[in-house]
Amino acid sequence: MACHIVMLGPPGAGKGTQAKRLAAVRGVPHVSTGDMLREAVQSGTPLGRRVQAVLDSGALVSDEIVADLVRERLTRPDARAGVVLDGFPRTVAQAQTLDTLLGNADALVIVDLAVSATDLIRRLSLRRVCAACGTIVALVEAGATEVCAQCGGALTQRSDDREEVVRERLAVYERSTAPLVDYYRERASYRTIDGAQSPDAVAGAVAAAIDETAAVIGQDR
Ligand code: AMP
Repeated sequence: MACHIVMLGPPGAGKGTQAKRLAAVRGVPHVSTGDMLREAVQSGTPLGRRVQAVLDSGALVSDEIVADLVRERLTRPDARAGVVLDGFPRTVAQAQTLDTLLGNADALVIVDLAVSATDLIRRLSLRRVCAACGTIVALVEAGATEVCAQCGGALTQRSDDREEVVRERLAVYERSTAPLVDYYRERASYRTIDGAQSPDAVAGAVAAAIDETAAVIGQDR
């Protein structure tokens, strides 16, 4: 049975970093709807042109658009053993779509990273992404000029990590995505993790949570 993992949590909670690590450890694809949408914008595809303004504003793109992206991605052969989903679902409607897509044949583990709003704003203002290899880097101090430790590439700031957009994204999270916790909370495969810990400690807690839920996988959905 395939085991799909959802990384839940507000922007800046560490979903991307943890999802990439987890996917590498488990040898399954990392599926980030945000990355897919940013790639579409960068490549100038019709989809990219449709969603660029929405991404820049911090709002959510439509449930239909992301559902189509995820549906297509999950049908590829490399997703058969499971994927780590990062940034999807973000609304209750998307979570319902995911349940329908997986049916009863596949298990779903939900890992929710909890971080306080103050920490999120600080983290997002210091977050940089390597333009060459995509590694996510936390600057030690604002304004520090650094290069990627992995590949020496230039570090860039995501356009939606500017402070005014960050506040909108956190408001959107509270309004649209936080209700997902209620949708998932009763499931035995739902776990909350303290995302304020070091990345290594969070990764350890995530791995332990997934192992713990292994016993109940497939029986509560
Ligand atoms: P992320 O990289 O996950 O922070 O996503 C960046 C942006 O992409 C979000 O602020 C939304 O505009 C859009 N986006 C990503 N995933 C979704 C989703 N599941 N539903 C709607 N919009 C999304």
